[in-house]
Amino acid sequence: MTETLTPTSAPSDTAPSTAPAAEPVYTIPQERRIVTAIPGPRSEELHQRRLAVVSAGVSSTLPVYIKKANGAILVDVDDNQFIDLGAGIGVTTIGHTDSTVVEAAAGQVKEFIHTLFTITPYEEYVRVAELLATHTPGSWPKKSVLINSGAEAVENGVKIARKFTGRRAVAVLDHAYHGRTNLTMAMNYKAAPYATGYGPLAGDVYHAPSSYPYHDGLSGGDAARRTISYLEKAVGASDLACLVVEPIQGEGGFMVPADGFLPALQEWCTVNGVVMIADEIQSGMARTGAYYASEHFGWTPDLVLTAKGIAGGLPLAAVTGRAEIMDASQPGGLGGTFGGNPVACAAAIAVFESIEQNDLLAQGARIERALVAGLSALKQKYDIIGDIRGRGAMIAIELVQPGTGDTTKEPYAAAVSSIAAYAAQHGVLLLTAGTYGNVLRFLPSLALSDALIADALSVIDDAIAELPAPERNAEKR
Ligand SMILES: *Cc1c(COP(=O)(O)O)cnc(C)c1O
Repeated sequence: MTETLTPTSAPSDTAPSTAPAAEPVYTIPQERRIVTAIPGPRSEELHQRRLAVVSAGVSSTLPVYIKKANGAILVDVDDNQFIDLGAGIGVTTIGHTDSTVVEAAAGQVKEFIHTLFTITPYEEYVRVAELLATHTPGSWPKKSVLINSGAEAVENGVKIARKFTGRRAVAVLDHAYHGRTNLTMAMNYKAAPYATGYGPLAGDVYHAPSSYPYHDGLSGGDAARRTISYLEKAVGASDLACLVVEPIQGEGGFMVPADGFLPALQEWCTVNGVVMIADEIQSGMARTGAYYASEHFGWTPDLVLTAKGIAGGLPLAAVTGRAEIMDASQPGGLGGTFGGNPVACAAAIAVFESIEQNDLLAQGARIERALVAGLSALKQKYDIIGDIRGRGAMIAIELVQPGTGDTTKEPYAAAVSSIAAYAAQHGVLLLTAGTYGNVLRFLPSLALSDALIADALSVIDDAIAELPAPERNAEKR
């Protein structure tokens, strides 16, 4: 099968959006192109090899094997090109193989690749900590520890908060996702697939009600009162070390909390000596049109967790926050062999530079405008789109069963899987999310052009039009 797709919309030089500061140069044409069945024959071949040697516990959303990527485009081993609306779950935030990151990492590889900062330190680690102190919310003195992954950042944030407070309990919110290590499995809302059969899980983790305006209809103040009331009864403030919160929940479905929710929780934490930690692993690093999504909500957390987007695709993560909290740990208590690897640090410095030099915060705002406008037009057309929410390049739609949008808002997960499958067949890589599996999330790189957004949305429009008629779905249930 050979099908060549061309973008349906012209480049939008007339669009009212912010043009990139410098016109980026791409090594791969920024367009989708499908030339084989999906997955193609070479991907099928690789997949057979993989099944023989890679654990079944490691799954893949779309088993097309990638050979190169640039900007917002992935190229697979069969030469199909996909518009990447997932960015490796929000990692290649400034675009695939961004030239500043590639040059910085390649340059560092030639100088030295590893010494271990806890043996013999180096400037790149210090520079990343300086940049984090500058760009994370809060104007107080801040310090950081660098590690390798998001889950490790969460683990360290909890360790640091426990050490500082001398308390034991950890609180999280409903619909949260924090990772796959032993402690973070216990912090996730969803047991399946992350924790099923992997117990015993870490104890002393409490799941408090969140703010989910589309479903709970609560004001930020009322939702915060409900959360605080739960924490006071189920834990007691005097035993609570930290409250860990994603300002916009990621895997849970991009829930944007009601206004006032996060500042009210922070105030309660401050009054009660609880460390409040922002898990900005998915929402941070310029993705939402601000360096950190907390800023949109007037929330200044005590500690901030950064990972995914920080180093352009290289593994790096950080806990950053109030110096007195970060310094409560004894020398040797924090660290790890690969934490703050110099190549990853060099890449991170390049990411921060690129955000500044190319005004990438404005690109987040541009993507939000284009996506929300396009998705709102689709919502007018299809009543299964119940909600559109998010900030910047972190936007989602929640799909509900036909006719339930104004009443019970029943999850329509089957539609989400069908749309994602249709999109993949037509060269658009689209991620799903949501506690009930009924959310399509748009988590592209900031390199995604308005033309690619329009093209991807036209594919999603076709995908929804292809869904079985509402009556048939009603019968199937
Ligand atoms: C991805 C993610 C994590 C876990 O990060 P890993 O690098 O996969 O360990 C934690 N919290 C949030 C909000 C995430 O999106």
